[in-house]
Amino acid sequence: MTELTKTLELKLVDPNAHKRRKLRETREAYQHALQDAFDARCTTQTEANDVVVNYDLSGYAKNGLKKYVPQLTTIYNAGELHDDHPVRFTNEGLRLNRKPENTIEWYIKIPHHEDYGLWMPAQPNPEQRDWLEALNAGDAEMGESRLFEREGTWFLHVTATREIKKRSGASGEKRTAIGVDIGEASLVTVCHRDDHGSPTAPELWADEGKTVRQLRKTYFTATKRLQTRGSERIAESFGDDLWNQIDDVFHRVTREVVEYAESVKNPVLVLEDLTYIRESMDYGEYMNRRLHGWGFAKLHAQIRYKAVEKGIPVETVNPRNTSKECHACGEVGYRPRQATFKCTNDDCWVGEYQADVNGGINIADRYLSGESHSREHRDGDDSAEDGGRLTAPQDTHADAETQQGTRGMNAS
Ligand SMILES: [Zn+2]
Repeated sequence: MTELTKTLELKLVDPNAHKRRKLRETREAYQHALQDAFDARCTTQTEANDVVVNYDLSGYAKNGLKKYVPQLTTIYNAGELHDDHPVRFTNEGLRLNRKPENTIEWYIKIPHHEDYGLWMPAQPNPEQRDWLEALNAGDAEMGESRLFEREGTWFLHVTATREIKKRSGASGEKRTAIGVDIGEASLVTVCHRDDHGSPTAPELWADEGKTVRQLRKTYFTATKRLQTRGSERIAESFGDDLWNQIDDVFHRVTREVVEYAESVKNPVLVLEDLTYIRESMDYGEYMNRRLHGWGFAKLHAQIRYKAVEKGIPVETVNPRNTSKECHACGEVGYRPRQATFKCTNDDCWVGEYQADVNGGINIADRYLSGESHSREHRDGDDSAEDGGRLTAPQDTHADAETQQGTRGMNAS
């Protein structure tokens, strides 16, 4: 086991005037307290506590100051303060929540006064979706966070840590590619080829596909009915409950996908690269997946972090025609029914084949043919429904100094 730490970047999305004012209040109180404790040359937590205790700040910010000021005065021996230090909160300060039904899925609660926090929608760096999934599921631990404003936009940087296994298998050794197809009928389908190259051990999560479709349908019809009756609050809690049920299904299925990979010798999980989806699909296929983009991106993120926990590499491939080509001869066939692929090549032994398994093998084969993208070396966005890539500014210089220890351990 080894520990992996990363700084997660979140942008606070359009806080209203009231929340902006509260954020500024927090920052001002924090900076005054910081200046006071710094001017008093506090070198211990106790000394710093005596200064910051009187400020109207949450305990998390005060604790952040108690840790930070002695570092400034002793370790860095700073002569003066920058005027835009981020507000630091200790690890218990933030709360994370999500509303998958909303355009902005993630919400974060920022400590304000002693017993008062602000819930705000937050857009993560799309590259770090897997980390948020891990945090939300309790599979990663939240560390210190830093709140700051740049050119009118508020950002939050959160340190997160999780335990991962070192990758198994020698790097030069041939890996067994497991194609992961995410679909409509079967929520997830996995398959790989055996030593002789024959497709083997397909596993389909078809019942779960049905369950999720049903829950989504219930959500849309029931919440609409409740809303027209004016029962917004009931609609919201009912909706949350249904999405939690969907998320439970997702977590179980993605765990089982990783277990499947663990049962295979020297595995690599192969996913479709979501950045290509817009470009490479025809309109109907794209719209179909777009509608289910939430589940698509979320399942990917969960598979990614759970695979990394177990030391299993994840690669992505271009999804073009993975559901339409015949895995045996490469001819573009068609689907007479949702679950059936039909090859139109008369010379090919494949007549009709399970469509999701055919897709899964195609995905695995693209990795084997060398057409893969290692995730660590890409910097595009990996979400079908997110817009542009989020760029957050760097922390201030003094802040960067104290982060060096953390950064050195970063994977990316
Ligand atoms: Zn064929």
